[in-house]
This record gives sequence, structure tokens and C-alpha cells, in this order.
Amino acid sequence: MKSSTSSQAISRRAALASTGTAAASLFLTGAASVEAASTPAEGDDLAAVITKTPFIDTHEHLVEEERRTGWSQPAPLLPCNDWALLFTHYLNSDLLVAGMPAKDYAAFTAPDTATSRKWALLAPWWPAVKHTGYGQAVRIAIERLYGVSELDGKTINRVAEGYRHTVKPGFYAIVLAQHAGVESCQVNSLEAPFMESRQPQLLMQDLSILAFGAGSGNWKHFTDAEGSKATDLAGWHRVIDHWFARYAPYATAVKTQVAYSRRLDFEDVPAERAAEPFRKLLTGDPVSADERKAVDDHLFWHCVRRATAAGLPVKLHTGYYAGQNSMPLARVAQNPGDVAELLRHAPDTTFVLMHMGYPYQEQMLALAKHYANAVVDLCWAWLISPSATERFVRDFLVTAPANKLLTFGGDYIPVEPVVGHATIARQGLTRALEGLIRDGWISRSEAIELVPGLMNGNARRIFRLEEKERALGNAPWRS
Ligand SMILES: [Zn+2]
Repeated sequence: MKSSTSSQAISRRAALASTGTAAASLFLTGAASVEAASTPAEGDDLAAVITKTPFIDTHEHLVEEERRTGWSQPAPLLPCNDWALLFTHYLNSDLLVAGMPAKDYAAFTAPDTATSRKWALLAPWWPAVKHTGYGQAVRIAIERLYGVSELDGKTINRVAEGYRHTVKPGFYAIVLAQHAGVESCQVNSLEAPFMESRQPQLLMQDLSILAFGAGSGNWKHFTDAEGSKATDLAGWHRVIDHWFARYAPYATAVKTQVAYSRRLDFEDVPAERAAEPFRKLLTGDPVSADERKAVDDHLFWHCVRRATAAGLPVKLHTGYYAGQNSMPLARVAQNPGDVAELLRHAPDTTFVLMHMGYPYQEQMLALAKHYANAVVDLCWAWLISPSATERFVRDFLVTAPANKLLTFGGDYIPVEPVVGHATIARQGLTRALEGLIRDGWISRSEAIELVPGLMNGNARRIFRLEEKERALGNAPWRS
């Protein structure tokens, strides 16, 4: 086991060196430390091993770097191009829930508001949110990237200057590899079903199947291999299949966050039953809630079958909702039970249960233990609740097989707070393993042996990353 991990690290290092990119050279330190982490010895410092081991970051929403460095005016996902951007995702929700008036938040994130005014708007609410996961991630990022440890009226100009100094061509690789210790990301673009990234091996991409569901309306724009739009359900199948043919070889997984708008109780509806309600959706005729669900259920399983045939895991948003003042917790509570039926219905499909289904992580752990095709992903979870996620890792490792846990996904639109999130995840992972050692559940050498798999090996295997890296090295859109 040790030697195979070592040889993987060596071949990976060789592969990265051969790409000859700036990002690859930054990765080398990390790749070497995987090797070190795979040879535990008496007296090894667990915290040091975790600090040096690179994460595979299994979930991000990062926009293309050029949108940041070339920013000229407020745009979707990027309201401003100054330090306040770091507070827009996800700290905005804690600020608004703490009581910050919406008009003050709007002024805080406006591009033409002066730095001193921005601080004056933030200051009354900062003490209430600085300790949450969202708050800590931003504080750590500001300290690591700009050298400012305490945010106040005196230091805020240094933060503003640090932001401007950082956002330059090439900064994604520096922030991710050097500061966050991330080897590669898996981006779920919020702008396209699959983003043809200009940094395809650093910003690997998931294919969004939300884009093909009943709520998307994308049949108005998307075309099949012949350039034709769908005129019936069979035509829409051809459009979807075209997207899979084009992007599945490069995608790390398929992803859907449809849990924001419905239960995950997808019935395997046959095409014959979905065809007529789909025709009504196309023509704009009224459809009942049941008819819409039948179409959505059918399209979900169509996509899941295509993903499974292409060897792509299916990532499902489960649990907590981003945003504020909108989450129907009774529906969220049904996620684990609904997912159990998906797992049972499609044993050949790997389902990645994102965000550990917080606050229903105990049930998700039961699914990971019981179903061979269930994987739990801690993406975003360390931000939502650092302490609950630490407890979850402890429980997971003595309950379910360790090769079914993915321990980090930054889940950010701006890249800078990924540094803070990765730091929190490393601290939490260290504390969880130290706790298991202290309480006698596992030995120190066993804890150290777990680290490479938890931080990168599981992701590399589940998402077949070596194959994807090779494909992306020859991607037709590569610049
Ligand atoms: Zn996300």
C-alpha cells in the first residue's frame, strides 16, 4: 500500500513536470509531500504531514481567471473588484442574517464605494460574524494573502491594497497551489453546463445536468450534433447526448443542485410517459406539478444513465441551502431517505453526497456505510460548521470505509477564500485524527496512513483523475 502510493506520487510528479506550466511547478512541492506522507514513521508529526499534503479540491464555482483580471464593471457573480468581493460569497448571508440592512450590503459591495465607507458599513456587523466558518475563512485568507491579521479601521487600507496587488494574470495558480495547497479543482461553473477553461488541468470541470432538467428551459437554445433544436423528447435526448459525447471524456463528474427546488425522489419515469408533458413544456402549454415532475424525473435518470455509461460519478447537492431566509428544512430533511432509493435503484452509479447533507450528516454516514455506491463529500461543510464537520470525520473513520470520504471542496466563486477554507479543513482533519488517537480508537501511524487517501487519493481514484488529466492535456479548446 505504501509503495503503490509512493509510485503514484512519483508518476504524478513526472506527469506534472512534463506539462511545463507555472502551476505544475508550484504543484511539485505538494506532490513530493504525498510521497513523504505515505511513509509514516514513529514520531511523525501528523499536523505537519497534513499541512504538506495537497488537497484535490472536489468542488468549486470559480469563474475563469480572465473575468477577474479583466474586470471592468459589475457583472454576474462579480459585483465589484475590490476586497469586498471576498465577503460576497458566503459571508454575505451571515451578515444579512446578523441584521445588516440590505441597502448597506448593496453599498458595501458597490464598485464605487470608498474603502473607508465600506469598512464603516461592515464594522457594526463584523464582531457577530467573524467567528463563523464563513468569517474565519475570509480572515485567514486576508492574513495569508495580504499579511493583515486583524480587520479594523487602521488595517483596512492594507487589505484593499493587498487585494489589488494579488489580482494579476496567473494569480489563480499561486493562490490555489501555493497558498491553499490545492493540486487541482473540480469546478461546477454557474455560467455554462461545462466551461471550456483556459487552465483545464487546474480548473477541471463538472458537467451540470441541472442544465438539462425540466426547469432549465435550455431547449430554447441548445442544439444536437446536427445543429438542430429539440422539437420533442427524443430530440431533447439527442441534445443531451451530444453534450455528453462532447464533454464527458473531459468532465470529472456530473453535478446537479436541483435539491434547491425539489425533493430528490426521482422516479424512473419511462420516455412514453414523459413525452406528452415534455411537448407541453416545449410549446408553453400549461403543465401540472405532477407532469413537470414526471419530465424532470425522466430527464434525471436519462442523464444518470449517460453519466454512468461514461464512467462519471453523479454529484448531488444534499443538505443545507446557500443564501438566507429561504430554506424549507422539512424538504431538506427528506434528502437522506430519498437518496437511499437512488442508491438502491442504480447500484452501478457512484453518487457523491455533497456537503455531508448537513445538518443530516448522521444519516448520510449510514448511507456511506451501507451502500457501496455512496461517497460523502465534505465540500462546503467545513465552512457551514467547522466543528460539526470535525465531529463527522471522527465518526466516519470508525464507522464507514475510509476510501468513501472526500475531505475538501472550497465551493467558492472568488478564489481567495479557498485559502481560508483549506486551512480550516486541514485544522479540522488534524483535530479529528488527533482525537481518534487520543481516545485510543486508532494509532498515530494508522492516522498518518489515512492522510493521503483522505486528502487526494480517494478523489484521484473516484474521479479517475489521471485519465482526465491526459484528456485535458489534449483538449481542443486548450490555449
Ligand atoms: Zn457549490
